[in-house]
Order: sequence, then C-alpha cells, then structure tokens
Amino acid sequence: MGHSHSVESGQPVTIGVLAVQGDVREHLTALTAAGADAIPVRRPVELAAVDGIVLPGGESTTMIRLLRTFDLLEPLRAAIAAGLPAYGSCAGMILLADRLLDGQEGQATVGGIDMTVRRNAFGRQVDSFEGEVEVQGVEGGPTRGIFIRAPWVESAGPGVGVLAQVRVQAGELRAVAVRQGDLLATAFHPEVGSDYRVHGLFVDMVRERRAANHG
Ligand code: GLN
Repeated sequence: MGHSHSVESGQPVTIGVLAVQGDVREHLTALTAAGADAIPVRRPVELAAVDGIVLPGGESTTMIRLLRTFDLLEPLRAAIAAGLPAYGSCAGMILLADRLLDGQEGQATVGGIDMTVRRNAFGRQVDSFEGEVEVQGVEGGPTRGIFIRAPWVESAGPGVGVLAQVRVQAGELRAVAVRQGDLLATAFHPEVGSDYRVHGLFVDMVRERRAANHG
C-alpha cells in the first residue's frame, strides 16, 4: 500500500480488536492486510497480551455496557493510561473521547484523548455519506471516508493533533481524524473497503511503541 513504513516492516506486532460488538471482522482483516498479527479481545487476559488495541465501529452505548459486563472497562482504561496504543473508528472514537456531547444520558466513555466528541454529529444534516478525506501521515492521496451516523470532534486540547477535517457547511470545518501520542481516532470507517492505509499508520505507531519499549 502507499503507506511508507518508518520502522522495519518485519517487526512482528500483535494488535487486538475489542470484540464485544461492532465491525470486528473488518478490523481483523484490515490489520492483517497492514502486516499485524490481529486477534479478537474479549477478556482482560487477552488485552494484557497485545501491543495495541482497536476499538471498532458499532454502537458506543452497547459497547460501553458490554465492556462493563465483560469486566474490560477498567483494564482497558488502565492499559491506555499505561501507554497501550489504541485506535478507535467511529463508535471507537466516541469511546476514546474524554468528553462526550449528545451521548445517551449518563453515557460513559473509556477516555484517553483530550477531546470533546459529538455523537451522531452529522445526523442533523445527513445520516451517512462517503467522501474523499486527506489524512495527515497517510501518503498516496486521499482515502475514501465512509461515515455512518458518525461523530465529529467538537474541540480538543493542545496535545491533540488534527489529521483530517471535513467541511460541514460553508466555512465550517470539523476534525474527523486525530492523534494524541499513541492514540488515534477517526470518525469514519477505513476498515470498510479495501484501502488499509490508516491501519498501516496505526500498525507503524504500534511498531514504534513496541521498539521503544523493548529497545
Ligand atoms: N452512532 C454510533 C454510536 O453512537 C456510531 C456509529 C458507528 O460506529 N458507525 O456509537
């Protein structure tokens, strides 16, 4: 793929996909295509064994409930606080947000990224759409962004880098891809389709973290 690997491509990394709900299979396929060993994660012991974790698209209210049921919420928070690289797409972006707007009453998040995310943000204009998105750090031209009842980033702290924006109205841009350290989030679903360069970016982030930890 067009993404250039800044760390030796041969370095094996294991990336988990949170597998309580959502488009788990698509992320496993995308991560494998991007060169990682990808495994579903449903239990704390599985979480402890991965070099990075993906929080898939799906329904954030269901996922947060199931995270509690599976006793995964606190381990996931602890792992992220301890530096585990994480990538969230769509509902996964909502889960990684420190602050949430238009959530269900009392809806909790996992947290990690110093941002306020608005849930179902595009819904007021259009439920779902596709568009070309230029993502910083993803080489080879824009990627096809698939937005399904997607959130956007309403505001973010100074430590958060905006990697992509879309125009929602004349003159109004909203962030739809962000990175804070080893945490990555997109409002769209790169796991749907066959362009896995965003996953390539995350696999590189995980490789770099692993090399730094084990170096
Ligand atoms: N609207 C969903 C939520 O609140 C996210 C939709 C998606 O992941 N495609 O979780």
